[in-house]
Amino acid sequence: MTTDEQAIARDLSGRIATLLEQNDLSDPARFLGARFDAGLAWVHFPPGRGGLGLPQSFQAQVDAELEAAGAPGPAKSRNGIGLGMAAPTIAAFGTDEQKQKYLRPIFTSEHIYCQLFSEPGAGSDLAAVATRAVRGGDGWTVNGQKVWTSGAQNAQRAILVARTDPSVPKHAGLTYFLCDMSDPGIDVRPLRQITGEAEFNEVFLTDVHIPDSDRLGAEGQGWKVATATLNNERVAIGGSAAARESGMIGPVARAWREQPGLRDPAMHDELLRLWVEAEVARLTGERLRQQLEAGQPGPEGSGLKLAFARLAQTISGFDIELHGEAGLRYDDWTMRRPDKVDFIGREPGYRYLRAKGNSIEGGTSEILRNVIAERVLGLPPEHRVDKDIAWKDLPR
Ligand SMILES: Cc1cc2nc3c(=O)[nH]c(=O)nc-3n(C[C@H](O)[C@H](O)[C@H](O)COP(=O)(O)OP(=O)(O)OC[C@H]3O[C@@H](n4cnc5c(N)ncnc54)[C@H](O)[C@@H]3O)c2cc1C
Repeated sequence: MTTDEQAIARDLSGRIATLLEQNDLSDPARFLGARFDAGLAWVHFPPGRGGLGLPQSFQAQVDAELEAAGAPGPAKSRNGIGLGMAAPTIAAFGTDEQKQKYLRPIFTSEHIYCQLFSEPGAGSDLAAVATRAVRGGDGWTVNGQKVWTSGAQNAQRAILVARTDPSVPKHAGLTYFLCDMSDPGIDVRPLRQITGEAEFNEVFLTDVHIPDSDRLGAEGQGWKVATATLNNERVAIGGSAAARESGMIGPVARAWREQPGLRDPAMHDELLRLWVEAEVARLTGERLRQQLEAGQPGPEGSGLKLAFARLAQTISGFDIELHGEAGLRYDDWTMRRPDKVDFIGREPGYRYLRAKGNSIEGGTSEILRNVIAERVLGLPPEHRVDKDIAWKDLPR
């Protein structure tokens, strides 16, 4: 550390001590609000917007010191979309007014967010969205259908991509909005998954009103804004584990240690191989996080998300085998609407079934391989016949 950096670190420790002294840790929402106001939410954000305008690398110190003091942290699993995707996108593309209005309630989780991107005909090909936003008066009227919307049942707000100009090629006619989920035109219907639970939903939008002040980025620039969100999403999914054995390998390694009756010499090598792979993925995530401290995430996050999905599915398969018949005992099909995905606290059968979604959510593994091929390795791009054709003229 340079002397300047040492001075910043000392100043931060002082601010953290003051925050801890002056606020009650037993009221998480108020404490997080005070933390935001003290500039200790995202230290690289500007003063007054949750930060102090410092290099992002100082965030690790803030998080570690507050965690060591037992302070409540942001609700990462309940509001992953708000914290991991909406906040960085608003910070990068929002007006001053939007930052002022929306960043604080995301940090305190007074606003839980969902992501209204995918549609029945627009998943991997997100730029094909057909949900229409038409301008009139002080805002926009939105009509269409979204699908696979995780957590929409709990969300107060949404990030939304809609088509605002069908007469230009698909990537050019999109606009990005921040949407109020309490609008009477929003209908959220649960969709049950392979686990029996309904984490996600179909969302129907009928004459939903969005004021123009909730447009994020310029009209027609929605693809650029959405790409920033997706890059953040892949990092959030693939690079979130921090402590050793905190991910999917954790319960497997613990079962191996604590239940000698399960051990089988033939599985020993496989467990070691998976443990090492999990550790490599964790450390790669850590390195990526450190690289990101210098700026916005790039397409490399896709590699991490790809590895995370493959590993989660392999480990959960091993987990089932390790537990033998007991591993298959997942028979509680009660319809639940969980407000977070908890891999670690659940049984191997649940983990195995839920991990199937890891290679689909946040971009399928096939698409991520395309991203890596084109944007990281510089290989020739896929042939795109619809690139220069107006969206309204594309066959559907
Ligand atoms: C658990 C879970 C949670 C989700 N949560 C959300 C959410 O909160 N909000 C949201 O907006 N979406 C969400 N999604 C949707 C997810 O982003 C989409 O399912 C995903 O982008 C794939 O789109 P699709 O289902 O339409 O599949 P399709 O695009 O129809 O793809 C079908 C298959 O074809 C492959 N494929 C398609 N195009 C190509 C190509 N060019 N090259 C090679 N292979 C290709 C795909 O990889 C896939 O295997 C969630 C999905 C899951 C499983």
